[in-house]
Amino acid sequence: MSTLLRHRNAPRLGTVAGFVLIAWLLPYTLGGYAIHVVDVALVFALLAIGMGLAMGIAGQINLAQIAFFGVSAYTTAILTTHNGLGFWPAAAVALLASALIGLLVGVPALRMQSHYLGIVTLGLALGFINWTTNAEIAGGAEGISAIPVPPMFGVDLSSEYLYYYLEVVVFALALAFALFVVRTGLGRRLMAMRDDPLAAGAVGAEIPLLRMTAFMLSSVFGGLAGVLYAGLIRYIAPDTFNIANMFLLLAMVVIGGRQSLVGCVVGAVGLTLIREQLVDYPTYAQLGFGIVVVLMVVFAPTGLAGVPTRLKALLDRRLGRTAERSVLREFRPYEAAGDQGVGDQGRETGDSRPMLEISGVAKQFRGLKALRDVSLTVERGEIRGIVGPNGSGKTTLFNIVSGFYRPSGGRVLIDGHVVSGSRPYRLSRHGLARTFQNLRLFGELSVRDNLLVALDRSRTYAIWKYALWPVGVWRQERRLHRQADDLLDRFGLTEFAAARPGSLPYGIQRRIEIARAMAGAPRLLLLDEPAAGLNGEEVRQLSEIVRSIRGSGVTVVLIEHNMGLVMSLCERVTVLANGSVIAEGTPAEVVADHAVIEAYLGDSAMADMPLPTTEVTS
Ligand code: ADP
Ligand code: MG
Repeated sequence: MSTLLRHRNAPRLGTVAGFVLIAWLLPYTLGGYAIHVVDVALVFALLAIGMGLAMGIAGQINLAQIAFFGVSAYTTAILTTHNGLGFWPAAAVALLASALIGLLVGVPALRMQSHYLGIVTLGLALGFINWTTNAEIAGGAEGISAIPVPPMFGVDLSSEYLYYYLEVVVFALALAFALFVVRTGLGRRLMAMRDDPLAAGAVGAEIPLLRMTAFMLSSVFGGLAGVLYAGLIRYIAPDTFNIANMFLLLAMVVIGGRQSLVGCVVGAVGLTLIREQLVDYPTYAQLGFGIVVVLMVVFAPTGLAGVPTRLKALLDRRLGRTAERSVLREFRPYEAAGDQGVGDQGRETGDSRPMLEISGVAKQFRGLKALRDVSLTVERGEIRGIVGPNGSGKTTLFNIVSGFYRPSGGRVLIDGHVVSGSRPYRLSRHGLARTFQNLRLFGELSVRDNLLVALDRSRTYAIWKYALWPVGVWRQERRLHRQADDLLDRFGLTEFAAARPGSLPYGIQRRIEIARAMAGAPRLLLLDEPAAGLNGEEVRQLSEIVRSIRGSGVTVVLIEHNMGLVMSLCERVTVLANGSVIAEGTPAEVVADHAVIEAYLGDSAMADMPLPTTEVTS
């Protein structure tokens, strides 16, 4: 089944052949003006793909696409008319120029939240319009005319019919490239960033760089569109690049469906055609598009492209088709680590450096002291429990260890290296993995893709391969998919591989999170309340999984309220209350401690405490 799944996205040869035939024959059916409209529609389709990549795939608000488009069109125009450069050399420079502008827009992305970035992109678009209308070299309001016809081995590209074929080829290649990006590692990471940037960082995605990459990708498509536009119309003026057109572009992407590139293309072509029909009523057209966009955002946020999936989901729910696949398979244990040695005997012979050393860590949120002077040391191969009342700072401690928060004081060492203040993706590379108290799976990705994001350990700069060595990307994909098959099988998740996590029962989602954390082959695993919401059998399985993970050589730190699980699983337990460590010792010592009983266990808590022993020990 998995081989089938793996190729589920490969477009069928027949479909492709059909499209080629249609694209080839289309001009024969069109009059002179109609072919012009189609040529313009293709330019917008390219722009929309770029928008879709930034907004739909990467989740970054991009209002600068029209400026990327304009930069490239103007560069082509200026270099050919002012500097006498040939069309294609000018086009190459133009592409570079828009990619560069894309990178520049991305620079604030290194520091800024994404909604502020939206404002930066709008600023760029406005600044660009300003420049085109005022700069002498840009020809002011009159623009630049007499851009030369692109030469093409004697083919006369001043014919809009022949130009169409050039555009179709460029468009097809660009779309294929964009689909390749979306369906392989880079696209998965961008989507993971869109769905949950924190979780994406925790599995090793370099978020700031990825955001920059999204803008650069977007700008390259904008640049390509600009070059084609300059060669097609051979006259450019500021009007084309104004905010109204930016919003038209936005409407194309939202209506078509920003998360689907094909949807973006459909939106672009559709709206270009509709706009042509409404050319005599520009105000009503604007208003109409605006209303449709609002309706779309409210009723079909995934656009036209998302409608079939939503209908299917609705139908499935009506027919109650989800219940049948909620049985979780058994976990297949990891092989025990050999010579490295873990567990009690191993610890005597192995490396004696502790795996995790927290010393004097404090964390203050405004007036609230969430942690004060917390110190604890977790030995290699240990399973450490952390317990304490709600609000005692347990999750905050994990957030500090995993790089989400900077401590206000103290430091954290993992495997002997100071890591406090490092970004999450660095910690992930350093061998740390974690799960989240309130599940943070990538909601729009399949279970398989959730694991693939975490399995992929390549650095962001490796995306040069997309441009220069796609075969390398493909090979890496196949390797990752094999690993994903194995991981899915190990965690008993194979039959859920294609499902969205949100459609699955809670217990399964919890297990996917652990599988995702293990995908990065960590040395240290932090589990934040992994048993919350699980039933008895699921807790038993969890206990087995954690034991096996430790057995494979991974050190585990576990926040848990289920005292039965803690008692049976952990060698040592640390108790937090009010941001301080109030006790530490073996489970038996800790539950007998007066301070602990007072602060955490209390009489009532002891009463409904699940009995340790039989249920969870194996
Ligand atoms: P626990 O996981 O032990 O239940 P937390 O670590 O989540 O506790 O929270 C400890 C305290 O810190 C709580 O009072 C909580 O409200 C506060 N806190 C946690 N995160 C933040 C934050 N990002 N901003 C402000 N206060 C926070
Ligand atoms: Mg918590």
